Amino acid sequence: MEKLKKFFINGTWVNPRSDETMAVISPSDLRQIGTVSLGNEQDVNDAVQSAKKAFTSFSKTKKKERIDLLKDLKRITERRFEDLAQAMREEMGAPISMARSAQADAAVGHLESFIGALAELKERTLLDSGDILLKEPVGICGLITPWNWPVNQIALKVIPALATGCTCILKPSEYTPLSAMVYTEIIEEAGYPAGVFNLVNGVGDTVGRAMSKHPEIDMMSFTGSTRAGIMVTKDSSETIKRVTLELGGKSPNIVFSDANLERDIKYSINECMFNTGQSCDAPTRLLVEHSCYEEVLKIAKKSAEEILIGDPTKEGDHIGPLFDKIQFDRVQNMIDLGIKEGASVLTGGLGKPHGLEKGWFVKPTIFYNVRNTMRIAREEIFGPVLVIMPFKNEQEAISIANDSPYGLAAYVQTSDIKKAERVSSQLRVGAVHINGGGYNYGTPFGGYKQSGNGREGGLMGLEDYLETKSLHGL
Ligand code: NDP
Repeated sequence: MEKLKKFFINGTWVNPRSDETMAVISPSDLRQIGTVSLGNEQDVNDAVQSAKKAFTSFSKTKKKERIDLLKDLKRITERRFEDLAQAMREEMGAPISMARSAQADAAVGHLESFIGALAELKERTLLDSGDILLKEPVGICGLITPWNWPVNQIALKVIPALATGCTCILKPSEYTPLSAMVYTEIIEEAGYPAGVFNLVNGVGDTVGRAMSKHPEIDMMSFTGSTRAGIMVTKDSSETIKRVTLELGGKSPNIVFSDANLERDIKYSINECMFNTGQSCDAPTRLLVEHSCYEEVLKIAKKSAEEILIGDPTKEGDHIGPLFDKIQFDRVQNMIDLGIKEGASVLTGGLGKPHGLEKGWFVKPTIFYNVRNTMRIAREEIFGPVLVIMPFKNEQEAISIANDSPYGLAAYVQTSDIKKAERVSSQLRVGAVHINGGGYNYGTPFGGYKQSGNGREGGLMGLEDYLETKSLHGL
């Protein structure tokens, strides 16, 4: 835990220039589990200078060398798998079974698909014109990640940077620094040259901004709120950096009356509440065909009330707490707002679940009698809160679904596959999950509209970290 007070710069754990620190609190029992250092502009500059020095040689490494390094990274990640899962269990309250099967699994899953994608990537292409296209690393990358899927987000940014020959500085969320520390140890053990990967903890307003504004950083990759994504974009614009963003969502889930309602509604509720609702692509707006609306309300209520909430240290498929007090207050305020806006509570509501008064636990909550103009239907709540709205026909469903500033994901439940594809093609989102179809590692992930720019994962995830050079006259 002493390493939490240090940063990883130029291949070693160093003392920060800043002497500011922050307590790291377990969200399930409010115990202090560590103290993390919060860096400043000088710490960022040290990391950038180290990444700059390393770029000269690392950017020239052969693909084969980088694949071999990634294979070492995979072997060590698999060995440290349990450490990653336990870190996320402790720092963000992810229930241990899910911390293993989803949160830590992402570290290995993304790595495997990036190794495959790198093998496939063409770094030199001869065009019909005789010109040659070269794909080259974009440069020094600033990577900013949030607390809700800490290792998943680190893997989606750090691995493609390392795979393409870039060097990088990672600023994870200071609320979840444990998993980032374990991940840094994994990279250290894999033997990457000094300066290729650097870790600086700190707050978005100082370390994050210093990265976005730094003249020697070439690219910023950010995951978090749309609010902070706008700040990163503005700060980066002064130095014309490439910016990729994975931001918020308010994903619609369209349920047609020909769906297998028992199965699909239960799945929909569980998917919305998974990770205690702290997922950017959670299906949080349930749009239901009028003819099955009443039946769906009954199944939804029953399914939400069957969700177990509990101690993250226990095995099982229960959900855990929200990650901290800020998020708890934010979710409570939104539930309160929904009631004031005139929506009806189908189940859940304000306050903590019985017997779980100590940590940041909340009740899975469902609203009905909701209009798409209400704030609870438009804003990302980032907790286990669902809104249900009826629709009359396919066109109205599509129109409500698209009436959102976001465009990350959508979900469709129907037994008519042609209808599923017809509807999907009209949704302005980066991914459509049909009848429970889940995300697969390597498939591009990202959003339309205010949900972001760029795609993470697989070959497209590598391309974001590459520049294109044209050679004429050879
Ligand atoms: P933020 O977007 O503020 O935080 C995410 C990361 O960005 C953190 O590391 C944060 O650091 C950093 N950051 C914040 N401001 C800046 C900035 N100006 N420049 C650079 N980096 C910055 O999210 P919150 O944690 O405040 O959560 C707020 C809401 O955002 C949630 O309720 C949810 O709706 C949404 N969210 C969406 C996520 C997604 O996956 N799309 C992930 C997390 C949140 P610091 O913690 O110091 O502010």
